[in-house]
Amino acid sequence: MWDICPENDLTELCHNCGEKSNGQKKTIQCDVCDRWFHMQCVQEPDPIKSYSCAVCTF
Ligand SMILES: [Zn+2]
Ligand SMILES: [Zn+2]
Repeated sequence: MWDICPENDLTELCHNCGEKSNGQKKTIQCDVCDRWFHMQCVQEPDPIKSYSCAVCTF
């Protein structure tokens, strides 16, 4: 078995900047792919609406 690349691990890792979310920055989860992003990395979308990231929107 191959080791799973941490980039593909659906942890609380911002998939925009690659930094792990440490709880100090607000994060939002893509409704489609379940990846996490810092709010400030994705232009602070409205958290009330379901969010889909740039990849899923495209
Ligand atoms: Zn980020
Ligand atoms: Zn997505």
